Amino acid sequence: MSTFQELGLNADLINAIEDLGFKTPSEVQQKAIPVLLEEERDLVTLAQTGTGKTAAFGFPMLQKIDVGSRTTQGLILSPTRELCLQITNELKNYGKYCKGLNVVAIYGGASVTDQAKQIKKGAQIVVATPGRMKDMINRKLVDISKIQYSVLDEADEMLNMGFYEDITSILSHTPDDKSTWLFSATMPKEVATIARDFMYDPIEITVGNKNESTSQVSHEYYLVNGRDRYLALKRLADANPDIFSVIFCRTKRDTQRVAEKLIEDGYSAGALHGDLSQNQRDLVMKAFRNKQIQMLVATDVAARGIDVDDITHVINYQLPDEIETYTHRSGRTGRAGKTGVSMVIVAKSEVRKIKSIERIIKKQFEKKDIPSGIEICEVQLMSLANKVHNTEVNHEIDTYLNSINALFEDTDKDELIKKFFSVEFTRFFNYYKGAKDLTVSESRESSGSGSGDDVRYFINVGRKDGYDWMSLKDFLKEILELGRDDVFKVDVKDSFSFFNTEKENEKKVLDFFTDFKYNGRYVNVEISENKGRSGRKRSRGGKRRDGGDKSHGERRSRRSDHSENRSERRGRRSDSPKPRRSGSRSGSDRPRRSRRR
Ligand code: ADP
Ligand code: MG
Repeated sequence: MSTFQELGLNADLINAIEDLGFKTPSEVQQKAIPVLLEEERDLVTLAQTGTGKTAAFGFPMLQKIDVGSRTTQGLILSPTRELCLQITNELKNYGKYCKGLNVVAIYGGASVTDQAKQIKKGAQIVVATPGRMKDMINRKLVDISKIQYSVLDEADEMLNMGFYEDITSILSHTPDDKSTWLFSATMPKEVATIARDFMYDPIEITVGNKNESTSQVSHEYYLVNGRDRYLALKRLADANPDIFSVIFCRTKRDTQRVAEKLIEDGYSAGALHGDLSQNQRDLVMKAFRNKQIQMLVATDVAARGIDVDDITHVINYQLPDEIETYTHRSGRTGRAGKTGVSMVIVAKSEVRKIKSIERIIKKQFEKKDIPSGIEICEVQLMSLANKVHNTEVNHEIDTYLNSINALFEDTDKDELIKKFFSVEFTRFFNYYKGAKDLTVSESRESSGSGSGDDVRYFINVGRKDGYDWMSLKDFLKEILELGRDDVFKVDVKDSFSFFNTEKENEKKVLDFFTDFKYNGRYVNVEISENKGRSGRKRSRGGKRRDGGDKSHGERRSRRSDHSENRSERRGRRSDSPKPRRSGSRSGSDRPRRSRRR
């Protein structure tokens, strides 16, 4: 592995890189920077989002342009205003020691006159969205006839958004002998066409495999009845108390509707789609970046500019029309070395699409069951317990301690703990008690595991300890000396997890963990109250009485599903003042919650 110095970057850039805290060049940077510095060649690079492409073209461009001149020498085209601003910002950071450097962003929705003024002062590098760029060229407000380097960033996105004509028109105003550097996460036909028609003998660099999803992201799908989509979404959110997510819908209307319902139900959610004004979108994005919004509901187009590094979950509320788009969606998580989960809520009619997506991303989906109500209660309770455990004592409380102690004089510790947790837990419990099973089985027969003879365990290690479901499963199999399929339904939360084994392994598991220390701390395993999410045969909620012939039973259960839906929603409104959701009580008088991770 080489260092930035070894890649051939000059001292001004190295100093800036040190300030930024970049230690080693990323793979795409290692591959692209030396060739771009040494040769005047065209380049096609395939790399996922979050791999450091901006620096891969930014460093060489900054080193090669003449900052002493005021001529525009570099043009970077990028699909959205957000990305334009981000790239401009990054380049300014990278070039902070390049005296005289001027990078200007050009994008729609802001004053043309102001942008033209900035260009006139002399911008060596222009970062632009295709639409506004073309407009300004036509009005002779910008001159790109002398550029030496042009970058097509996120080329697949630009073409997806219908910028082909704009791009070709813009390039026709540039000199023939410039170099063109194209960057793309995927390689659809249209991008290949651009490369063929506008580039000469390009060097090709691939980081990871084409169209492939990053290894940091695991993929899960949840099979539900179409009408339960929204309830399923809420359960997924409730089962992940620290969720920070983007939820994708297919249309602007659905996006708005889902966001509104979430907000109404007490979640900290926001909508992002093209019918909002630029100002509204900016506000939503700002709130999301600041983590005041935990669930951002977005359309594919609107989400293109989102470049937030610590998104924990991407939820596909509906699958995209074009399955290639899935790669972009799931790429919003698992960035900057973090792990992420991409969840898909599917109805039976769409389940075929999962297979097609697997072929494209070259990864397997795990079929999971929507968490049951009791499981969510357990997760919420343990999450709260962990929060309490990790909370630093605020000694401002000391003043009031006497009065509080007096109040609880006759309450022993156990009782106090129970009362304390009931405050929060009862809300969830009331909401979820009797909630129905939302998972639909894929085939008529239920799968082998989960037949009722399995045991579910709680274990006090989780994502914070570096596990995901796969690595925890491997770890458990190994230490317990169990076979490949003996540990299942592994579900990893932030600081704890769940897993199942067959009943016959129960003693082995519990015996093993009575006194097991790992990395200097006791690993605690207990039998969980619920049995995992699937394979439940008994009817739920006491409302549903199965009987009669099959079609009859089906009809009846459908009706009772409906009333459960209603009671589920009503439950939250009336007897439960909305389960937790820090953000929902986001009145300005509340301190903002700091997120762990
Ligand atoms: P991409 O364009 O491939 O999506 P970016 O260029 O936006 O990725 O980079 C993603 C994040 O990684 C940015 O926050 C950037 O500052 C950071 N980054 C880029 N290169 C490095 C590096 N070599 N070391 C550490 N962080 C880096
Ligand atoms: Mg980028």
